[in-house]
Amino acid sequence: MENIAILGSTGSIGQSSLEVIDKLNNRFRVVGLAAGRNTQMLEKQIEKFKPKIVSLKKKEEAEEFRRKFKDRSLHVTFSEKGAEEVAEFEENDIVVSAITGIDGLRPTLAALETGKKIALANKESMVAAGSLIQNLVEKSGAQIIPVDSEHSGIFQCLAKERVDNVKRVILTASGGPFFRSSSQEMEEITLDDALNHPRWKMGKKVTIDSATLMNKGLELIEAHWLFNIEPAKLEVLIHPQSIVHSLVEMNDGSVLAQLSPTDMKVPIQYALTYPEREDSSLPSLDLSQIKSLEFFEPDVEKFPLLKLARQALEEGASFPIVLNAANEIAVSAFLQTEIGFLDIAEIVSKAVENHPQREVQNLEDIFSVDRETRQMTRNLIERRS
Ligand code: MG
Repeated sequence: MENIAILGSTGSIGQSSLEVIDKLNNRFRVVGLAAGRNTQMLEKQIEKFKPKIVSLKKKEEAEEFRRKFKDRSLHVTFSEKGAEEVAEFEENDIVVSAITGIDGLRPTLAALETGKKIALANKESMVAAGSLIQNLVEKSGAQIIPVDSEHSGIFQCLAKERVDNVKRVILTASGGPFFRSSSQEMEEITLDDALNHPRWKMGKKVTIDSATLMNKGLELIEAHWLFNIEPAKLEVLIHPQSIVHSLVEMNDGSVLAQLSPTDMKVPIQYALTYPEREDSSLPSLDLSQIKSLEFFEPDVEKFPLLKLARQALEEGASFPIVLNAANEIAVSAFLQTEIGFLDIAEIVSKAVENHPQREVQNLEDIFSVDRETRQMTRNLIERRS
């Protein structure tokens, strides 16, 4: 039996990971959980999975949990430091990194330091700190198995291949809910419209990122760092059926693709059981039922954040950090209905324009660019209203 800790256990990926673990009866033991604000759900998870260490957001919540579970040998901790403690817990064999946003960076780094296996779902960490993570992986011997469906697909296609033989990597995107919307319709998008993703059931942040196509932009940067593929070889195709999760073209003309039902439990289970595979209870992919698989060029005029993300990938330095931080703030403002849908791209673009690019050497630099950008983006949003 292998021991698992889940960072972000009450989020969408965290919950699906626990479902997968539950179905794979006795293959894994949950030893650590780091949760966000949903303390009720964490309580249920503790009852069911009986971890040894849990972390909550706030001190008061942690104190309440200590009282509640005082009869058990459960270590209760809190804050970002608490999540790091769960990440470093010595009994972990596998850590699922599924905290959304830059908040997941320090806990992810803590897990990587231990040199164990990391199932990585937190793409923002890779975007902001790709080079740092790459160095850390080399130093600690940690192994990253991607959870993101596209990257899981690429990882599986590359399993027996040499990266120098790769000609192109194509990440597919569903296109989100507004793939077919006119520019007139785009101006009237509401929060509910944007949260109504046609294919995937996911957390709110990534659902909005999918609607603006920023998600695919972040994934391009993630793919660059995960697989060491140069930016010019990375492409995006819109594939509304979300069945082909990615394609890898080799130098001899062969194109490898990974297909599976549109369910995050597939890449999650693969990341957990890798290098083995286990049975899943999901229905088989029925291509005769689906009939057609379509592919389109992305429209970067309609979805400018994809273009901006590619620029960030090519230029590097502080650009990707600014892009990510501004986007996190803009998406959160959109979720609070402080700004409209099209404002997200406008604000992120302005934040990028305002920020003088600079080299980043270490974690301190990354967080200082991140903090500055957040403040500047908040100011941009306030000035509008
Ligand atoms: Mg994805």
